[in-house]
Amino acid sequence: MRLAEIDGKALLRRHGVAVPRGVLLRAGDGTPAEAAQWGGHVLKAQVLEGGRGKRGLVRRLANFDELAETRRRITAALGDPQAPLLLEEAVTIAREIYLAIRIDGTRQGLELLVAGEGGEEVETTKELVRIPLDGATTADTLYPELAKLFPRDLAARLARFAARLPDIARREDLELLEINPLAVTPQGRLVACDAKVICDDSAGFRHDPEDFPISRALEERAMTPLERTARDLGFQLVEIEGDIALVTSGAGLGMMMIDLLADNGMRAACFMDNLRGAPDETMAERLRVARIIAERPQIKAIVFLTVLSSRSLAERIEALLAWVEAQPLPKPLFVGIAAGHAATRKMSAEDAVAKLGAAGIAAFTDPIALVRAVAQAVGSRAHSS
Ligand code: GDP
Ligand code: MN
Repeated sequence: MRLAEIDGKALLRRHGVAVPRGVLLRAGDGTPAEAAQWGGHVLKAQVLEGGRGKRGLVRRLANFDELAETRRRITAALGDPQAPLLLEEAVTIAREIYLAIRIDGTRQGLELLVAGEGGEEVETTKELVRIPLDGATTADTLYPELAKLFPRDLAARLARFAARLPDIARREDLELLEINPLAVTPQGRLVACDAKVICDDSAGFRHDPEDFPISRALEERAMTPLERTARDLGFQLVEIEGDIALVTSGAGLGMMMIDLLADNGMRAACFMDNLRGAPDETMAERLRVARIIAERPQIKAIVFLTVLSSRSLAERIEALLAWVEAQPLPKPLFVGIAAGHAATRKMSAEDAVAKLGAAGIAAFTDPIALVRAVAQAVGSRAHSS
């Protein structure tokens, strides 16, 4: 789960990291009296996407009297007069630094990312330095790396600051903890002016489910009704603008199929994945949702891929045929099959293809052949590369 800035900063504050003081303004809230005394003010939209600064969703007030007008401008830019906004004391920034802790998937460990210039253009910087972290990481081991990027006294303070972050990431089960900008004030203090935090949902059971209500509400609001239905049925659905109702499980297979369809001039209308890496079988639920998507006029075909290692292919094919026979399909169905040794004891993949073929369903053991057949059926042409 991605946390809204205000929740990310609450998490940082809990661990003793300095963040600006702030107050959440909900629709209907008046001007907060306590903020009048602050040195300056920044008003920030709380949305789950980045790049707010560039979209005019982070605004510095020249004067506290501008609050109501700035509020109107941000909520108008969001197209949502009810949107909650974060009002913060403006930090005077002498230098912006980019700092992040994330999981290096290849090494299966945490790493620190640092850039000497933080702020809105950091994605385009070439100066992003990656420092691997392990149990032996301390401020002393980080200092030599940081001293290559910063003056010595700043490097020393940053090393002490950064050395505390891996422990926060581990204790809170974070996939990403990004602070951009980390402000260096004219007095040399380090203040986290923004926080992008992604929690590992698989570890959600270790944490308070009531935590981060603002992020949860924003996430809920950003979902389509069908995405909510899917979540309640036990799998993740992301709806995309497209013409193929794609039924997969596992993120890798889903991404591969979206790319293969795109290579052949088609666009998947959805992405499906298991929730929390759940081993639960949700084929029936995923097919039910795919049928709803396939009813839409722009959808040209249903593509269903099944990958079996130990579950029985014979039972899967039976269930699929029962689903097809229960109700006429709104669009033609194409099936891809990959089945390992244990799955094919009662029925081989070739027999499954033949059995589906006899029922008038095109089936394939090669995903590329599958996608080519779909392209031909829907009259799509491959992109020349
Ligand atoms: P993002 O664009 O969604 O990443 O939003 P940020 O919270 O990072 O804000 C965008 C930019 O606004 C930052 O890179 C800063 O330059 C600036 N900014 C944010 N908070 C403050 C603040 O307290 N003081 C000052 N001077 N600038 C700020
Ligand atoms: Mn930022």
